[in-house]
Amino acid sequence: MNFQSAELTQQVAQTARDFAKQHIKPHVMEWDESQEFPVHIFKEMGKLGLMGVLVPEEYGGAGLSYFEYKSVIEEIAKVCGSIGLSLAAHNSLCTGHIMTFGNEKQKKKWLPKLATAEWIGAWGLTEANTGSDAGNMKCTANKDGDDWVINGAKNWITHGNSGDIAVIVCRTGEPRTKDNSTSFVVERGTKGFSAGKKENKLGMRASETTEMIFDNCRVPDANRLGEPGDGFKQSMKVLDGGRISIASLALGIAKGAYEAALKYSKERHQFDQPISNFQGISFKLADMATEIAAADLLTLQACDLKNRNKPMTKEAAMAKYYASEVAVKVANDAVQIFGGYGYTKDFPVEKYYRDAKLCTIGEGTSEIQKLVISREVLKN
Ligand SMILES: Cc1cc2nc3c(=O)[nH]c(=O)nc-3n(C[C@H](O)[C@H](O)[C@H](O)COP(=O)(O)OP(=O)(O)OC[C@H]3O[C@@H](n4cnc5c(N)ncnc54)[C@H](O)[C@@H]3O)c2cc1C
Repeated sequence: MNFQSAELTQQVAQTARDFAKQHIKPHVMEWDESQEFPVHIFKEMGKLGLMGVLVPEEYGGAGLSYFEYKSVIEEIAKVCGSIGLSLAAHNSLCTGHIMTFGNEKQKKKWLPKLATAEWIGAWGLTEANTGSDAGNMKCTANKDGDDWVINGAKNWITHGNSGDIAVIVCRTGEPRTKDNSTSFVVERGTKGFSAGKKENKLGMRASETTEMIFDNCRVPDANRLGEPGDGFKQSMKVLDGGRISIASLALGIAKGAYEAALKYSKERHQFDQPISNFQGISFKLADMATEIAAADLLTLQACDLKNRNKPMTKEAAMAKYYASEVAVKVANDAVQIFGGYGYTKDFPVEKYYRDAKLCTIGEGTSEIQKLVISREVLKN
């Protein structure tokens, strides 16, 4: 694997960096305080190809690889974790699911709208009582003539209210049986589909998280993605790619926190010298830099395997698990380096600290990543 990022990757990263600096940075705290999900920002990112990074050009996307995708999520998350999270959910969950499992007609119908951000996408697997145990879902879809009738709710859904389209996984067989779920596309405005409670969160506050409710919601069989019974298997594959997203998101947050702490440590004087002169601070910076570099390499490894269509379940889980834990630790140390100022909203590190925690929870907790990794290593 070549660790030197290609010119194309650097150009794409620069585009995302410039956009974040100009359009996101000035509003970060305002959106965080008000929990506003700034839809217009995503429309703008759509114009730059950032909402369909992995979508082939024939479907209106940028047709780029996971290396560029990683760099986009990272650059945006360096400035705002919330926008990074929403970008990731749109690109790799909703769009990724249709791209991987949709038939030609479905891809032609929905991918161009998603890749250009004409439509914002949501993806619903989790329910109130089935998070880690997602296979035990209660939301059902029953076949009725040429339609499926969906009843139940999905919780914790990114863009559950503002999304124009959602891919949802519903139970279509007996509880706790094999192959008992199926994926469907539901468009906003479909009768019986509405949004429920919006969560008031610790971090990632500008990324909308809501409940989606289905009350005798009827969708045509043409909206079914893949074969009946394949929903859970499809989701696990989608989440393999999604883990690269969260690893990249965590990396962006960790790098943002580290860069802020590094700069501050050289500017802040105590005992007539910069605090970076104190080993207690400089060793923290050394740990941060080392752990970020290791998380970066794990994520690049997962990207490389995914680009080459090689098995990467273990590597994606390792990247997601490690990068997320590093982000939490780095953000915590960054607050410490800022001292009292780090505990206020006048400096960026308190937000990194709050946002980072999501990375150890969303798209499979750290414990679930360890379950995935241990299963893979015990296979041999
Ligand atoms: C901001 C945000 C956005 C999200 N966006 C989406 C989305 O767009 N779509 C979607 O479908 N979901 C989404 N989620 C849901 C997310 O994926 C779940 O919250 C996550 O999978 C954990 O599920 P849970 O919250 O029910 O926790 P639980 O599964 O109840 O876990 C509670 C604790 O028990 C531990 N645990 C559970 N099972 C085991 C086990 N077997 N071994 C060891 N420990 C275990 C967990 O690690 C955790 O520490 C989002 C969540 C958040 C917070």
